[in-house]
Amino acid sequence: MKLSSKSKEYNIPEYSLTGDLLSFLTCNLQYRYQNKGLLPPSRPLQHWFGEFIHGVMDEAYKQWKIKETHFPWDWMGDIRPIEEKIDQQMQIRGLYPPNPKYFTHYIDIENSKKIPLKRIISSRVEKSINIWGKHIFPLIDSSEVLIKRLREIPSDSNNEEQSDNNIEKRSDFYCVNGIIDVISSLNISSEISTNNLIIDYLKKEGFYKSQRKSEEYEIIIDYKGMKRPKYDSRTTNQQSKISDKSDWNYHKWQILTYSWLRSRQANSKPIMAGIIFYLNELLPSTKDLLVIKEDIETNKTDLKISKFDKQLIEDWDESEENFPKLSNSFKLDRSIRIIKIDDDEIKKALTEFDIVVNKIEKSTLKENKSNSIKNSWKADGDKRTCDACDFKSFCNKYTDQNSNCLTIP
Ligand code: SF4
Repeated sequence: MKLSSKSKEYNIPEYSLTGDLLSFLTCNLQYRYQNKGLLPPSRPLQHWFGEFIHGVMDEAYKQWKIKETHFPWDWMGDIRPIEEKIDQQMQIRGLYPPNPKYFTHYIDIENSKKIPLKRIISSRVEKSINIWGKHIFPLIDSSEVLIKRLREIPSDSNNEEQSDNNIEKRSDFYCVNGIIDVISSLNISSEISTNNLIIDYLKKEGFYKSQRKSEEYEIIIDYKGMKRPKYDSRTTNQQSKISDKSDWNYHKWQILTYSWLRSRQANSKPIMAGIIFYLNELLPSTKDLLVIKEDIETNKTDLKISKFDKQLIEDWDESEENFPKLSNSFKLDRSIRIIKIDDDEIKKALTEFDIVVNKIEKSTLKENKSNSIKNSWKADGDKRTCDACDFKSFCNKYTDQNSNCLTIP
């Protein structure tokens, strides 16, 4: 009897929207070291806070469902135990909290008692729950929803880069996945009169007027532990490309891709909009406010600013001590971004992410052939990313650009 030979192994690569695609776009080489090399970042604050705030908001929602605690929640009694739980879960995965300057830690007092010293991250968490959680939780239908789908890896003829076309593909398809933080369910007739700030923002942007195909809608919600990204009108039009390096566009494409993935699930309803909450805006750090100030001065913002807030920012001497008392509407408006779900835009987002996957696949295959990481992955982080990067001491781009500082006298 003739035994059939084992067929060649065929793996379909799987890519996460945030963990792979957006991470690759931040810097190709950093992504390679961090994600494919299994070297977790030591503790960059933004990475840690991003994970932490997702965990805290999800746990806070679960507890609100069980206990129905009224808002505002007390930090020490209601919120601190949630922070501790999420921190412990993250430490098990090797993600340790940042410098005590930022995150609450305990100090010993007499009779071996310990008291917590509340820092900026905990104050920000408190605001996130008491300002937005209060309005988000009653609308939640499901949280932490895993979505995935197969897509074709585009051929080089569709790709902007024609080089390296002698490298074979390892698969014709890839699997794209993501976890939607929150799916909210809205009944357009019953919710319209409720006292909910999110509904107010949706109405203000005309979403209720334009939605009449169905009574039931969904909203996709994503939390981001960062400030609102720069908005540049030149790179946010239909012609915008991955190479524009715009977080503003990347976040929009993330939501549009989520909406495409979600719409293919059996139990989904029409999606009214996507909402991103930029939670640092509720309590910006001095560094955040310096960048916000620069965005306003250089007209890299999509929002109008009141005379009152503009004056405060202009008069600010950029010190931590004289941090301006900005208005609540300034912080609220900057912390919420509503994204229209449009078929043409979805198509564009999917095409852009297909191109990213093609690039990652090519770099992977190139590295396999050449055995050289640095020749296969582009070092293309921006200044802020490079300054916080764990791999800068052996990154040629960084050492070349900072050779004066690194030269031993
Ligand atoms: S130092 Fe900058 S360019 Fe180099 S790997 Fe890190 S982020 Fe990328």
